Amino acid sequence: MKGLLHAVYGLLHPVLRQCPVCLREVRGEPAPSPVPVWHPEARMRLDRLCGACATRIPWIWAPMCPVCGRPGRCGDCLRRKLTHFNGVRCAVQYRDEMKGWLADFKYRGAERYAEIMAAMLSGAMERLRADFGGAFDLITAVPLAPGRLEERGFNQAERIAAAVSAWYGIPYRELLKRTRDTDKQSGKARRGRIEDMRGLFAPVEGFAVERQPERSLRILIADDIYTTGSTMNDCARAILQAAPGAEVYGIAWSRT
Ligand SMILES: [Zn+2]
Ligand SMILES: [Zn+2]
Repeated sequence: MKGLLHAVYGLLHPVLRQCPVCLREVRGEPAPSPVPVWHPEARMRLDRLCGACATRIPWIWAPMCPVCGRPGRCGDCLRRKLTHFNGVRCAVQYRDEMKGWLADFKYRGAERYAEIMAAMLSGAMERLRADFGGAFDLITAVPLAPGRLEERGFNQAERIAAAVSAWYGIPYRELLKRTRDTDKQSGKARRGRIEDMRGLFAPVEGFAVERQPERSLRILIADDIYTTGSTMNDCARAILQAAPGAEVYGIAWSRT
């Protein structure tokens, strides 16, 4: 009887989609949960989430730090002596649930997260565009160390940047490389991290960008996590070394 009821229920409420995060089958219309993202391609991806996954996203709705968009008091931007980027915005706060999503994507190779994380990153892009006025000419990603890239097979930051590039029509360009491998960052104190990042990035050989005749070139760097800003800052420094006068902005999927 129960099986029959289930079958009848299934006929009346066809499966419309599978949640890309928990893989549960979701019946019925998507429950529209508010998202700070306007692009239809990105919204369509976010609409595929089940209600439970959608409501667990800790969106950054109200950035407070005008430089990096942190939703609270920001000692990192105050401490930084020289900021090379013009502004950064992050989509979500790096809480437990988000750690799990990123670990599934990065370490367990669950590539289905690429689009959903890119859709979230789009929120940071749109916020940045609104706060700093105007569009971006190029987008690039923070590169992985070559050894890391080999073991993982892909650069998660590049994957999500590529989707943002396609949706918003911002050409993707590989502009940066790492000058050396660093130790795993996770256990390091903030100050140690900042020291570690100096001169870690450099422009790629043959770095070429078309200058804009009437205004500065606006380059966007994408990353998965923003912690103290030292990675983003060193990437911006490296880009300015090859493209003096450019404006460099950053977007990150999450903010610790
Ligand atoms: Zn779900
Ligand atoms: Zn800040």
